[in-house]
Amino acid sequence: MNDKIICANCGFEGVVERGNETCPECKKTGCLAWASEEQETTEPISTSSDKFKLITVLAEVTDFLEESHNEAVNSEYSDSEDPMAAHKAIEPECSYCRAIASASKILNAKGE
Ligand SMILES: [Zn+2]
Ligand SMILES: [Zn+2]
Repeated sequence: MNDKIICANCGFEGVVERGNETCPECKKTGCLAWASEEQETTEPISTSSDKFKLITVLAEVTDFLEESHNEAVNSEYSDSEDPMAAHKAIEPECSYCRAIASASKILNAKGE
């Protein structure tokens, strides 16, 4: 038997294996509640949606981009006390910084 659940964190409604406490969508533990009176179901177990997978990929790509861009900036402005500030002052139109900022905005907004 599986459990019909609703996630208090992301609002996901679906089916998990009996006793599973982890939301298939947001991967948070301990925020699942039974969705209805008939909590038991033989419906197949839910997997995370494509949208969630996309967000996960975006987070990974952003992390990678941010890390490698920081490294590049740090080595380029190694004489400066604050390499990132120097970089932003000299290259305000940097497309890496812009891409990282836009991605961060999307990632920060997803939990609201
Ligand atoms: Zn969730
Ligand atoms: Zn930059």
